[in-house]
Amino acid sequence: MAQTPGALYFSHMRDGPLIRIRLPGGRVRADQLRVVAALAQRFGNGRIDLTNLANLQVRGLRRVRPAALKAALGGAGLLPRAVWADRFRNIQGDPLAGLAGDELIDAGPVIDALDKALQGAPVLEACHNKFSYVVDGGGCSNIAALPHDVGLVAQESARGIRFRLYMAGVPTSFCAAPDHAPAMAVAAAKMALSFPDRKDTPLMTFLKRVAYRPQGGGSRVLARGALALAGAQENRIRRLIRHIPLEAMTARLAGYLDAPFERLEVKMGQERKLTPSIGALAQKGSDLMLCGFGVPLGRLDAGRLTAIVRLADEYGKGELRLSPWHVVFIPHVEAQRVQELRQVAGALGFIIDETFLHIDVSACSGAGGCRGAKLATPDHALAIMQAFAAHGDSRRFAPLSVHVSGCPKGCAHRGRSDILALEREDASGYYVYEHSAALAPQKHSRVEGTISAKDLPQVIRELAEKQRAQSEP
Ligand code: SF4
Repeated sequence: MAQTPGALYFSHMRDGPLIRIRLPGGRVRADQLRVVAALAQRFGNGRIDLTNLANLQVRGLRRVRPAALKAALGGAGLLPRAVWADRFRNIQGDPLAGLAGDELIDAGPVIDALDKALQGAPVLEACHNKFSYVVDGGGCSNIAALPHDVGLVAQESARGIRFRLYMAGVPTSFCAAPDHAPAMAVAAAKMALSFPDRKDTPLMTFLKRVAYRPQGGGSRVLARGALALAGAQENRIRRLIRHIPLEAMTARLAGYLDAPFERLEVKMGQERKLTPSIGALAQKGSDLMLCGFGVPLGRLDAGRLTAIVRLADEYGKGELRLSPWHVVFIPHVEAQRVQELRQVAGALGFIIDETFLHIDVSACSGAGGCRGAKLATPDHALAIMQAFAAHGDSRRFAPLSVHVSGCPKGCAHRGRSDILALEREDASGYYVYEHSAALAPQKHSRVEGTISAKDLPQVIRELAEKQRAQSEP
């Protein structure tokens, strides 16, 4: 299995080495993106992915020397100060933080402080590479609804704004002022290290408890050494919570907290639901606007990334926000220029209407990126997305999920989709299923015959129409 990539850690894919540049909170500057585009052009195959976690991946880097990569990324401020921490800075934030009018607090400074705090806690290198954090300033995006291990969610309290600690999406009674919230998140990650995985032996359980207890001398060092020899650890709170009660974790947490915190009663409210946005939004405290446009499937190349950078320079102030829903936002746009910006972005192939948010079309790497496929699944998914966009009536079908998979592994989407297109073994086209997952397609719901790549958008639209009609009362 390919290792989790980082800015200086390559994952070896079919189209060559890939790096992942983490951008906590999705905040990035035009000059930084120019460096990324130049890297992709000069050393890679020109392809860049905008990921589901608002990071960037540069693909096909067959010609790069690590020293040149480090110099380029470091010079652009795209590397953490502590390079070891790079693969552990999985911090999600609202791309609208500090810009949208409805938030309780601008979460940007808390995201920065958390990033710094993680880099100051080398023990967290033992965390699983996918251990993730989310910081939510209380804005309308509801970013805390994204899957996470540790969440910090702003709320009002009698003493001012407090960040409440969430674990695997569940609110705890632990709260802290904005200045102390990052320390609370770090404490939760350290605490998680001290718990055993479901399949750990009693010896492993004991070693973890000793190795990651809050205080201790030589015994901690010895236990950590033994665990390092034993290999990777599974300490994602998302997994732990399946076999360790939340109360057991919070009972242990207090011992790890070395910053002031409060215990505030948890009031169960409505379930949080991610609310993505696109298009022109009013910007807080000014007459300026924030413009978001969709990048279909998150697929970019050096040329398109450079085009985005130009737009950010020309219409905004060279600042951008990348979102986990594949929308790129350009802030600080004068209201009278919004329409022109939308037209230019649309002409460049970016999607500027709500279709993008209503129809969830995904694809695995396909023939270009994986040996398991012979068809260009992302291109075919893109054609589906464009077919819906061309009709401009996506709201009628929402929500609708469509997945195009090169084989039954379903790497890019393991769950069920409303419509699934699965490449045939002989690559002559697709089998199309309804309400299926690639791993276990529902044979009885298969559309008759083989659907060619050319006919796929039309067939899928017809199925969507049928499903919509069936769902009507
Ligand atoms: S689903 Fe199959 S073809 Fe697609 S990326 Fe995974 S292994 Fe490759």
